[in-house]
Amino acid sequence: MIISNFASKLIPWYTLHKRDLPWRNTRSPYFIWLSEVILQQTRVAQGLPYFEKFVAAFPDVFALAAAPEDEVLRLWQGLGYYSRARNLHRCAQEVVEKHHGEFPATAAALRRLPGIGPYTAAAIASFAFGEAAPVVDGNVYRVLARYLGIQEDISRPSTYKVFEQAARELMQGTDPGLFNQAIMEFGSLQCSPKDPGCMHCPLQAACYAFQHGQVTALPVKSGKVKVRERFFYYSFIRCAGQVLLSKRGAGDIWEGLYELPLREMEELPEEPLLPEGWNLPVQRLEFPEGTVKHLLSHQRLFARCVAIELEEKYLNSLREWAAPKSYLLVSECDVPKFGKPVLVSKFLELLKFPYL
Ligand code: SF4
Repeated sequence: MIISNFASKLIPWYTLHKRDLPWRNTRSPYFIWLSEVILQQTRVAQGLPYFEKFVAAFPDVFALAAAPEDEVLRLWQGLGYYSRARNLHRCAQEVVEKHHGEFPATAAALRRLPGIGPYTAAAIASFAFGEAAPVVDGNVYRVLARYLGIQEDISRPSTYKVFEQAARELMQGTDPGLFNQAIMEFGSLQCSPKDPGCMHCPLQAACYAFQHGQVTALPVKSGKVKVRERFFYYSFIRCAGQVLLSKRGAGDIWEGLYELPLREMEELPEEPLLPEGWNLPVQRLEFPEGTVKHLLSHQRLFARCVAIELEEKYLNSLREWAAPKSYLLVSECDVPKFGKPVLVSKFLELLKFPYL
């Protein structure tokens, strides 16, 4: 079969320029899946240490499936979108329970597993099993919109099919795994969002956007997401070498992670406030200046924290105060064992807490 002009230029470019990454030297669906889920959250350079941490802790799908959820969330800490970590864990359990530890070999079957969408399914099916399943991620949207001059809005879900079909046609006659790796790497290194390397691009002569002066206009993306502002006021409460933590409940950001006792407010106070219903004598109080800002994809968080220290003799009273609120009293040196949002870690650092 004749390969497309696009693929005949793309694949030699990839052979020459590809980064040597651990998940590229394997056909193991487990490692490929792990790397793809992590890389949906972050860039390659930041994702690499997470991948290595996960592989060291859970060398195979059985180890991941058997791990406690808290441990998975702790290793995921800092990547955000914690529902993906929970799905990762559930998916491993399902692969073990329903598939005897073997990942299904087709994109269609992979998509039935928790947390595996069309992109990840295509990546695993093509990289590990050679199925001609095109991946369509942000890089692929950009490269194909520019190269083919596709003007459709990529924020509309219906556009996905247009790009998937285009990629399917261009990959014909190639090794699908190689083609998919190549187009993603090309989008990441050469045809980048800002400042693409058009002047020394092997696709330049046939590239619609380059030839028509539309490189910065493509891909077309409309519809900005509404950002919600929230105001978090944390209390860091310490007594006799113990601190209070609170497990984040279901249905909101950071589900299942541990944070400090929180009051969500309409606006943040200028003066320190004690927690609601507080009735214990404070030995020392610290209220660091300034607001810490933290951006999530659809939320902008503004936060402050008050540090409250109690004399040792009030430990039991603190325990009684904390019990109805379901706060946990944990030893300071155990704090690193709990998966925490980055925002909470920032406050612990600000307060010079030694156990991060
Ligand atoms: S010429 Fe520029 S826009 Fe076109 S494919 Fe190459 S890098 Fe991308």
